[in-house]
Amino acid sequence: MGNESYETELAGLTKLLSEKVDLETVATTKLDQVTAELQAVDNQAFNPIERFSTGFIRFKKEKYEKNPALFGQLAKGQSPKFMVFACSDSRVCPSHVLDLQPGEAFMVRNIANMVPPYDQTKYSGVGAAIEYAVLHLKVENIVVIGHSCCGGIKGLMSLPDDGSTSTDFIDEWVKICLPAKEKVKLENGSLSLSQQCSECEKEAVNVSLNNLVTYPFVKEGLMKKTLALKGGYYDFVNGSFELWGLEFVLTP
Ligand SMILES: [Zn+2]
Repeated sequence: MGNESYETELAGLTKLLSEKVDLETVATTKLDQVTAELQAVDNQAFNPIERFSTGFIRFKKEKYEKNPALFGQLAKGQSPKFMVFACSDSRVCPSHVLDLQPGEAFMVRNIANMVPPYDQTKYSGVGAAIEYAVLHLKVENIVVIGHSCCGGIKGLMSLPDDGSTSTDFIDEWVKICLPAKEKVKLENGSLSLSQQCSECEKEAVNVSLNNLVTYPFVKEGLMKKTLALKGGYYDFVNGSFELWGLEFVLTP
């Protein structure tokens, strides 16, 4: 190899190297850019308006506009077959879990899906919903659905025995299902707190079903057999759903 060709070779190598360096620089710059973009997306403040807007656009395009018959009918009125009580927990929306469509279920969601006993002053909000569902919408089923890992039930199970409360509303509200807690403590007192909570999540549904009977229009519906009550339990850890009925001894 002559001197000249060696230099040519070297020049070529330097060129190659510099190109490689350039490529690396380009690649690094590109990588930095992508990382920065990703971080920007990550750091971007969550935009609730944007979330609602994209959500509604998707719903309108994929559901509303594809079901003109259904939404045309619903524009005139509703006649749901179900009234559903479910927890406010963001993981248990019955419309998603049970694929309930618009118009199918009149719904009340509250802490630990509780139905309080008939009380015109203390629990008028729930009473009004039941009254409307039974007397005006004439629903055929009231379903109370409990769920796994319910914070409200855990709150109930953790209430101090002296009856004292430490919250403005929650403790007093979950006390609606104290009979469920008492039953669980009596029958399953040796279980761990989390196992007792699971038991109570189902027992509390039964207490709510019994409380429903304290509403005169519910009792009347049961006597006439125009209305049925059902308990349900959604376990989102195992991905299962149970449904049961409860026998009532009704006296006029
Ligand atoms: Zn809950």
